[in-house]
Amino acid sequence: MNLNQLTIAEAIKELKEKKFSSIDITKACLEQIKKHNYEINAFITVDEKGALEQAKIADKLASQGETWEAKPLLGIPIALKDIFLTKGLKTTAASKVLENYIPQYDATVTKKLKDAGAVILGKTNLDAWAHGSSGENSDFGATKNPWNKEYVPGGSSSGSAASLAADMCLASTGTDTGGSIRLPASFNNLVGLKPTYGRVSRYGIIAMASSLDTIGHFTKTVEDSAILLNVTAGSDPLDATTPGVEPQDYTKSIGKGVKGLKIGVPKEYFTGGLDSAIKDKVETAIKKLEELGVEIVEISLPNTEYAVSVYYIIMSSEVSSNLARYDGIRFGNDRSSFGEEAKRRIMLGTFTLSTGYYDAYYKKAMQVRTLIKQDFDKAFEKVDAIISPVSPTAPWKLGEKVNDPLKMYLSDIFTVTANLAGIPGLSVPAGFIRSASSGQAELPVGIQILGPQFSEEKLFQIGNAYEKSTDFYKQKPTL
Ligand code: GLN
Repeated sequence: MNLNQLTIAEAIKELKEKKFSSIDITKACLEQIKKHNYEINAFITVDEKGALEQAKIADKLASQGETWEAKPLLGIPIALKDIFLTKGLKTTAASKVLENYIPQYDATVTKKLKDAGAVILGKTNLDAWAHGSSGENSDFGATKNPWNKEYVPGGSSSGSAASLAADMCLASTGTDTGGSIRLPASFNNLVGLKPTYGRVSRYGIIAMASSLDTIGHFTKTVEDSAILLNVTAGSDPLDATTPGVEPQDYTKSIGKGVKGLKIGVPKEYFTGGLDSAIKDKVETAIKKLEELGVEIVEISLPNTEYAVSVYYIIMSSEVSSNLARYDGIRFGNDRSSFGEEAKRRIMLGTFTLSTGYYDAYYKKAMQVRTLIKQDFDKAFEKVDAIISPVSPTAPWKLGEKVNDPLKMYLSDIFTVTANLAGIPGLSVPAGFIRSASSGQAELPVGIQILGPQFSEEKLFQIGNAYEKSTDFYKQKPTL
């Protein structure tokens, strides 16, 4: 196995045993980027020099006796979505507006990752401003799905998912406002974590919709996801929406098994537009969990049908407000550099917030948001967690939905509910399908596990037990 193919847990074990150095593993990732980024377009910026310097420092620290208890990611090469501010390293949000923007400071998560000893390889591609589900809204060209380069990798964290699926890094970060971590994780056979709203600081991450934005990551295994959350979680004086709830040691839930847990299956998530091949995969996963000792309970989330409409009103309202700061005066190019999708959302949001329409759209959407949250509260009185599909369809072909934004928005139907309710979600690989939308191509599909606020530990427990009962997560694309 090449070093760039290792998981974080495997790499740490072998770094500790001095089987190789951080320089070796960083070079292996940079090699892989050189070989394949030109066709996958996962990175906007590769910081080769900076990464090698950080790896050298990590090796030096390790040789001086620094421990992985103190610096849990010492020497581990990772990639950051290009929406996380990185001091001195260009951060574009994949928009022409910020094409030359060099931040003066690090996002809290960037800083925490650096302090934990991680090596930052570079910045990954995304739908501009994180608006999208396919990666095609980037002003720097679409990212391709490493499993089949004619297909989308999912978005908006398209480059973070594709770079990890192509083994260009050992993990990558993402943001999830309506599904942008879980959807690409599912489309790339990866584990994707969207934490509870406020669990991870948003400070220094370019805002999309502030009441929905959550900061998470992509990993090759559930255990790695827990290792990363141990580093990134916690309250931050610079983000007032991070509560004082103490983070746990999330790795404690790994290997615990799932006997006796109750998992709900929401009947509203298995109707209508759900691709039958995906339905089969989710049902197989449910059976697997039953075999592992889980009690499956049918539940109802009756307001699901309103979720996409509610999300697109609230999200656009907040987008129109957040993007108002990009006026070309303080940073970046002027507003004429916004792409079509950003303009669409600014216009929609300005409309829903304007006098006369505010009550009819924004206020109404906020009321229904509360009902959606209450649906989950009620469900979690009966069950520990919920299992559902991530996306109603398999990955689609590049170009297939770009001219039909409403069709694209529907791919968010099973993910936006968690953002509206502020609850955590974990996407875990569940196999490969040939479906109506994917034609002859075999493409990855994931399942989603949802839990009450701050139940990340439980999600890892379930995700890990399920993952280990399959071997999907071990499979790699042929590049
Ligand atoms: N696909 C959704 C959208 O276009 C989600 C985006 C996100 O989570 N950043 O808004």
